[in-house]
Amino acid sequence: MKAVVVNQEANGVEVVDHALPQVGEGQALVKVEYCGVCHTDLHVANGDFGKVPGRILGHEGIGVVTEIADDVTSLKVGDRVSIAWFFEGCGYCEYCTTGRETLCRSVKNAGYSVDGGMSEYVVVTADYAVKVPEGLDPAQASSITCAGVTTYKAIKEGGAAPGQWIAVFGVGGLGNLAVQYAKKVFNAHVVAIDVNDDKLELAKEVGADIIINANKVEDVTALIQEKTGGCHSACVTAVSKVAFNQAVDSVRAGGKVVAVGLPSEYMELSIVKTVLDGIQVIGSLVGTRKDLEEAFQFGAEGLVVPVVQKRPVDDAPAVFSEMAAGTIQGRMVLDFTGETV
Ligand SMILES: [Zn+2]
Ligand SMILES: [Zn+2]
Repeated sequence: MKAVVVNQEANGVEVVDHALPQVGEGQALVKVEYCGVCHTDLHVANGDFGKVPGRILGHEGIGVVTEIADDVTSLKVGDRVSIAWFFEGCGYCEYCTTGRETLCRSVKNAGYSVDGGMSEYVVVTADYAVKVPEGLDPAQASSITCAGVTTYKAIKEGGAAPGQWIAVFGVGGLGNLAVQYAKKVFNAHVVAIDVNDDKLELAKEVGADIIINANKVEDVTALIQEKTGGCHSACVTAVSKVAFNQAVDSVRAGGKVVAVGLPSEYMELSIVKTVLDGIQVIGSLVGTRKDLEEAFQFGAEGLVVPVVQKRPVDDAPAVFSEMAAGTIQGRMVLDFTGETV
């Protein structure tokens, strides 16, 4: 079968002919339809989290179950399911048993510590594969498997409620979905902040009430405070320390700053403001199986529509290069159905 793997030098990707995986206890075999390409895949391919040569990449996979092990009761042949970054937790640690399974210290991650979704077939742990509801386009579902659930969870962690103001810093692939979940699912008002006018226009189209180009105004946080009275929460997807600092200054007393982007830096946090204004700073990583189920459902209901572009599997090395060069708009999805040429 065709698979996209980390090359032997662990500094890029290649498309190879790979042996078909075998189904073991508790597992299901999935025929992959689509798998999105994410910045995290680029980090894995480059060995930024440790070198994993030969690993099949991909954690935004969607496919249909073609075989289950005898002991599997949670899935049946024909079910459409996800292959997500949160591939499997231990099931018994303090995090797994208290609704915080993504923090499990023995977690397995698809496309990194186990083979992922960028191949014609993949084996999943049946109880951890989340079903895709009827009516949700599988290519769009692939984007919700990572970017969608990540932003849905982040908005949730910010305590979003109807009528609140939510600031979304960085409205690229992730941020655009954050705007949609905040506006369409939580009925909040949204301020979108970015340095790219095209992305801001797109954010406006999908529901942002106010858009701000941070390069074109003198004081971003003063403007946000003036227009909104201070946001109730801020979701930071931007890979920039500046955005994190601005987020802290743009929330009102009791506000929450939810960190999603991963710049390799430290943020500045005024201790006085944090204490006097009761500011909370929360890190948020992907989402649990339940979060993904909910995020999928809002997609199936048409409230959230990811922007995806299908590419043939053989384009994978080119897609990774384009991502490294930063020339991609929206989400690139590898098509394993063979329909995109
Ligand atoms: Zn991802
Ligand atoms: Zn665990």
